[in-house]
Amino acid sequence: MNSGSNHSQSKKKVLVLGGDGFCGWPTSLHLSNVGHEVIVVDNLSRRNIDNELEAESLTPIQPMGTRLKAWEEVSGKKIGFYNVDLAEEYEEFLNVLETEKPDTIVHFAEQRSAPYSMKSPKHKRYTVNNNLNATHNVLCAIVESGLDIHLVHLGTMGVYGYGTAGMKIPEGYLDVEVKTESGERVEQQILYPTNPGSVYHMTKTQDQLLFQYYNKNDGVRVTDLHQGIVWGTNTAETNMDERLINRFDYDGDYGTVLNRFLMQAAVGYPITVHGTGGQTRAFIHIQDTVRCIELAIDNAPGLEERVMIFNQMTETHRVNDLAKLVSEMASGEIAYVSNPRKEAPENDLHVKNDLFLSKGLNPTTLDTGLLQEVTEIAQKYAYRADYSKIPATSTWTKEQQPGIPEAK
Ligand code: NAD
Repeated sequence: MNSGSNHSQSKKKVLVLGGDGFCGWPTSLHLSNVGHEVIVVDNLSRRNIDNELEAESLTPIQPMGTRLKAWEEVSGKKIGFYNVDLAEEYEEFLNVLETEKPDTIVHFAEQRSAPYSMKSPKHKRYTVNNNLNATHNVLCAIVESGLDIHLVHLGTMGVYGYGTAGMKIPEGYLDVEVKTESGERVEQQILYPTNPGSVYHMTKTQDQLLFQYYNKNDGVRVTDLHQGIVWGTNTAETNMDERLINRFDYDGDYGTVLNRFLMQAAVGYPITVHGTGGQTRAFIHIQDTVRCIELAIDNAPGLEERVMIFNQMTETHRVNDLAKLVSEMASGEIAYVSNPRKEAPENDLHVKNDLFLSKGLNPTTLDTGLLQEVTEIAQKYAYRADYSKIPATSTWTKEQQPGIPEAK
């Protein structure tokens, strides 16, 4: 596994918003390990959602205090922590900025499940209020603090709606030619048009406009990372001590495809493919997520530079091909169930990812060894799984059927 560099270009003070989550926790550890001073800000809402859904991480994640103590014992490095709700506690967050004066903020702190965002009007409204207020509050507080802070945000490839009319999705901007009134042809670059597939994805498309506006109006320096679906669970740092273990979501709302397939195969549950499995998705291993964030911090845009948009993914795969791969590897059975999403049954996806490659990313691609490693983790903690939480029960419209395999 490519664990990335051992030290970063220059030591920075970094706030990791959402640093208790699936991507945020291993990122916090990695940034601390490569020499940055790291402070986590998180309201632990994801742990409350576990309580609401009665579906816990498959892996036994430890409380924040235990995590931070374990990291200090293992590495000799301290990570700070503030429990602040970014959507609701603006003054508290501003106070954190004025006290800590960070160089960089990494923003993971949003409700990130598409199925959860579609469960009910309450969940739709929560996702919109939480995600848009959190992002806007962060931008507004950066401006009010008067500090020159580089904001690195985690966006998603899903803003493009997984349909690209055959072209490669560029890194954020599209070259267009428009005809003026006098008939002259003028070239322009615009944000690549979005086509969100859920309320969650819709909030991510709106984040983009907030960044564009605050960059234009206040000169806030922003890097927006359009990330593919993250798979895997451990990184070099989370592997250093059992108490540092990362989350592993397997339930119908938060379990993402591939990790969900690997878990299902590991515990002998049918691998549930939604619809025909003809959907193509972009993927990235969690080890590369943390490395990409490190690279984004080291390569901050300059003053006056527009928002930098990177596609943070390393490969694309058709869902059905992944199901077959996992099924062959782990001798699991595939169950085709109705697709709870409203989307085309099949799509192609072509994505440019030249920017991270040019900055030194050495991609970890899907190899059987790594897939096996995830399966072994799932088998190790299979005793913690509640199989009744595996099916996707949240549907995009009232008429659709949940993705539950037929009982035998
Ligand atoms: P996660 O739910 O595991 O982590 C998000 C963290 O943010 C949680 O710890 C939660 O408690 C915190 N949070 C949420 N709202 C908050 C608020 N108002 N104030 C303070 N903290 C808050 O999610 P993740 O999988 O780690 O995803 C992180 C980011 O990466 C998300 O923005 C998501 O859109 C993006 N992303 C994730 C994936 C993936 O496959 N996991 C793929 C593409 C993009």
